[in-house]
Amino acid sequence: PIHAARAILDEGETLRWAGHSRELVARYGLQSIDPAAMVTPAARRRLEAHLAGVRPPQTGTVGAVCLDAAGALAAATSTGGRVAKHPGRVGDSALVGAGTWADRRTCAVSATGAGEAFMRALYGHEVHARMLLAGQSLPAAAATALEGVRAAGGLGGAICISARGEVAMPCTEAQMSRAWRIGDAPIATALAAEGDPPPPRR
Ligand code: ASP
Repeated sequence: PIHAARAILDEGETLRWAGHSRELVARYGLQSIDPAAMVTPAARRRLEAHLAGVRPPQTGTVGAVCLDAAGALAAATSTGGRVAKHPGRVGDSALVGAGTWADRRTCAVSATGAGEAFMRALYGHEVHARMLLAGQSLPAAAATALEGVRAAGGLGGAICISARGEVAMPCTEAQMSRAWRIGDAPIATALAAEGDPPPPRR
């Protein structure tokens, strides 16, 4: 999927639904694998639990945000979506402005959680707009926008970095696993909702 996304981006920016994946494989000479090979035992157990009426935790989304030395911001989100989703569902992760966002004036954001609520709240863009138009700090903007997601009926969290190097990783749950690295400092990690790095010294 990453190679397909890269090929599409290099050709010209268009957003495409994965229903055309066979065509993309042929067009860009990508490697094709059997979809069944991507079904892990853990994912199957989660689906079976869901179909049995148990609501297992929806984990598995991976996000990354980055600010480089030249001031460029980037965000990426990789997800399998929600357990037992309808075929063809497009979640918030792929929608720039909802689950993924980067703008060098403000911040980069990658979200995880109930995608439909993140779409309704337009979470990533909301964080950006609060910073750009209301002058909020990244932590304030990220936390306030997450209240909008909660009000839209969704739980989840996000990892965010600002153009000034602030890091904010708010979540509505008790835990969200995350790691960060600032400059040459060692990699740091946190699991509990609290524990984000302090603001940068400037
Ligand atoms: N937000 C993703 C989606 O709704 C799923 C997740 O992050 O757990 O597709």
